[in-house]
Formats: sequence, C-alpha cells, structure tokens
Amino acid sequence: MNYLSTRGAGAGERHTFSEILLGGLAKDGGLYLPADYPRVTADELTRWRTLPYADLAFEILSKFCDDIPADDLRALTRKTYTAATYCNVRDDESAAQITPLKTLGVEDGAPLSLLELSNGPTLAFKDMAMQLIGNLFEYALAKHGETLNILGATSGDTGSAAEYAMRGKKGIRVFMLSPHKKMSAFQTAQMYSLQDPNIFNLAVQGVFDDAQDIVKAVSNDHAFKAKYKIGTVNSINWARVVAQVVYYFKGYFAATKSNAERVSFTVPSGNFGNVCAGHIARMMGLPIEKLVVATNENDVLDEFFRTGIYRVRKAAETYHTSSPSMDISKASNFERFVYDLLGRDPARVLQLFRDVEEKGGFDLAASGDFARVREFGFVSGSSSHDTRVDTIRDVFQRYDTMIDTHTADGVKVAREHLQPGIPMIVLETAQPIKFGETIREALLREPERPAAFSGLESLPQRFEVVSADAQRVKDFIVANTGE
Ligand SMILES: *Cc1c(COP(=O)(O)O)cnc(C)c1O
Repeated sequence: MNYLSTRGAGAGERHTFSEILLGGLAKDGGLYLPADYPRVTADELTRWRTLPYADLAFEILSKFCDDIPADDLRALTRKTYTAATYCNVRDDESAAQITPLKTLGVEDGAPLSLLELSNGPTLAFKDMAMQLIGNLFEYALAKHGETLNILGATSGDTGSAAEYAMRGKKGIRVFMLSPHKKMSAFQTAQMYSLQDPNIFNLAVQGVFDDAQDIVKAVSNDHAFKAKYKIGTVNSINWARVVAQVVYYFKGYFAATKSNAERVSFTVPSGNFGNVCAGHIARMMGLPIEKLVVATNENDVLDEFFRTGIYRVRKAAETYHTSSPSMDISKASNFERFVYDLLGRDPARVLQLFRDVEEKGGFDLAASGDFARVREFGFVSGSSSHDTRVDTIRDVFQRYDTMIDTHTADGVKVAREHLQPGIPMIVLETAQPIKFGETIREALLREPERPAAFSGLESLPQRFEVVSADAQRVKDFIVANTGE
C-alpha cells in the first residue's frame, strides 16, 4: 500500500504506512491518502461479521499497512481494543463489544440507534483511534531506537485523549498546552490528575489561541524541532483516520443481519476526521447509503454540502458553542474528500486550497463536481443551542437515554435524513458528564458519571503554569527532556 499527497508534488513520490505514521502534512502541504482504496470482497464481509473488534481492526488495518509484520500488527490491535480499556459502558455485557450499538427506537420507519464510541479512558470517541496510535508510535519508535516529544494545544478532548494514549509509553513524552482556568473542572481534572512522569501539562496564561500560537511558533523553529524531536498527533494523522474506519464496519454488522442491507451514518463533525473515515469505509465497499454530516452553529461543512461553497470562517466568526469539540473555522481533513470528489486531480486540489488561503474559500456550485457529492452519499445539517437542549431532553424522555451535546447535534440532524427501512446509526462521540452544564440545563439533573470517575475533581493535580510565551515553553521542554 502506497500513500500519496492530495497536492501531488513529486508525482513519483510514494510512501509506506510506517513512513507517514509519525508525520503530519505532506511536504507539499497536502494530506496523505492511499494511492488506491482497498476493496472488501463479499467473502471478507461475511467473515468479518463475527470477528471481535480487535481482530476486525487487524483485518482492516492490514489492508492499509503492509510494512508492519502481521503478527506484530495483530498483537498491537489486541493490546489496544480490550474490554478493560473501553470499560466505561452502561452495562457490563457491552464492554466486550468495544463499540456497542444502542437501539433507541423506530422513527419514520427507520431504526434509529447510537454507536457508542466514548467508552474509553477519556469518554470521547477520540480514544478509539488515539489508543491505537499510542501503541503504534511506541512500537515504531522502539524499532528504530528513537524518541518523540509530542507537543500540542488543547481546549479539551484531543489533549486528554492524547495524554491517556501516551501515558507510560516508552520513548514518548507529551507536552500539552491548555488555557489556564478555561476548561471545565472535569476536563481539567482529567488531564491534570495524570501523574505519569512522561506527561507534562502546561497551563498557559491566556486563551486557547495563545496556546495554539505557541505550538506553531515552536514547530516553526525547525532547528529546535529537529533537535528536540518535536512531533504532533493532530486529526490529519493518517493512522488516526484509518483506525476510525473500523467502527463503521462494526456498527454496520451490529445494525444488520445480512450484507445485502444498507445503513446510513450520522456523524457529529468538526475537522471532518470522523466522517472522512466513513467515506473511506464506503469507498472500500461497505454498503453505506448516506453519510450525514452534522455540524453545530459553526456550519462551514453544512454550508458546503448544501451549496457547494466552502468558506472558512475568521476567528471572530467562530462561535463558542455548547458542543465545543465541533467549534471549527475550517475542517482540516476536508481536503481528503475534495481530492476524491474532484476525481483525484492534485493540480485542482492545489489550486482550490490556495484559494482557501488567499481568498478564504472556493465555490464548486457551478461545477459538475458538486453534483457528485450525492453520489458519494453525503448530506448535512446543522444545529443550535436550543435544538441541542431540546434533543437531549427528548431523547431522555422518549428513550430513557442521556446523550451529550455533540451526539444530540447528531440525533437532531439524523432525524432530518431518515429513510424508511434503512437503519440510521448516529455516532455517539462523547459521554454527557464531559458537558455537564448543558445536561443540567436540559434535564435539571446531574449527568451520569461512570464509576471510575467518582471523585476525579478532588485528585491531586500536576501541572505547570506558564506565561503565553514560546520561549518559556521551549525552556520547559529543554529542562524536561534531559537531552
Ligand atoms: C473531536 C470531536 C468531534 C469532531 O470530530 P471530527 O473528527 O473533528 O469531525 C465531535 N464530537 C466530539 C465529542 C469530539 O471530541
């Protein structure tokens, strides 16, 4: 399996899975994609139907990765996808399934269900891929006797998922910047209560953008970056995307009895990483009818899928919402889909994303390409705080199920795209406890708290407060890498 860049510089330049594993953007600024999507055969689909999650993950990853020995890869997926790691479930039986499917009911003739992706250590779907990344990185670094210092900025979900994936991993340190006193007590405690010596929480005196700017400044210092082996684990990482392909298959098998059936998925979306994995599953031949992109008030993606216009937002136009993990101004994985939409034409992709940088967007409305969006199964919708609160309340009253704000956006938009007889699977991307304030507003009660999290906020915390100054962060890294 070879990988190429969506912008196509150096047409002959191809990479293996392991070569792009630790990297981010391609050299030409594009994103990596496989040269061809592997197809699943009818026989494979039948055989995969009954596999445990870890072995299904192995089968799917093997199709994308041919430079890790099969026995090693299987050991890595088995180490990652265990009932002990994805244990924060509503009932014990479902832990073994890793991503249990919870049926809500039948609406407009369509079975409606939630695919639980947030039973991992940080209670958000990002654990699904990040836990595997932790093991893959450790494996790859050990093989070459290398080390890696991961530097990131977070306002919540991503940073904690990265820390829980990397804690205790040999050869890896994490330096995670978060805005001092700006995250919820729960999210702060999740990160800062980690006592592992390879995890460093830096509380930046400023807002999230200040933290982000520091990461950019440090990463742009190429000499420093090389000397201190600085890397990232952001959502464009190819291995993260491919790890997410697995649960589309798992969800499909759980919602159907035969491979002749089709299902639709609704995906609460921000950076387009999650739904991009759904697109890839569909390209591999999984019988997906629709991929429904659900956004919040930050409706960059909904606007595109309705109109063909992709218009990135300025910072001042980006709303802080009650589904904050979907608060984006542009969708960093979107280029992967655009590449396929344009028939894999790197020159046009390059031009369009130059237009994004220079003119703030592009318009495909008039081009024949936009019509193909529906051929790829894509539709969309958006939500607001009011619809979010209403949906949380409605799902609780009707189905006795508490859902988080992001999942609520998914359910709201899913309901606009139901088709009789076609199961609609909404991806549950987080547990309600992470966004307790809105749960209290909607339900006038406390969010459910998985047993392992009782007393989390009163655990001792380990973090360093730093000024919003890149040099201060560099000094901290130098002092704590012992290199
Ligand atoms: C990250 C996140 C999303 C958005 O996922 P993308 O892959 O960025 O589209 C949605 N919901 C929750 C809870 C998240 O943490």
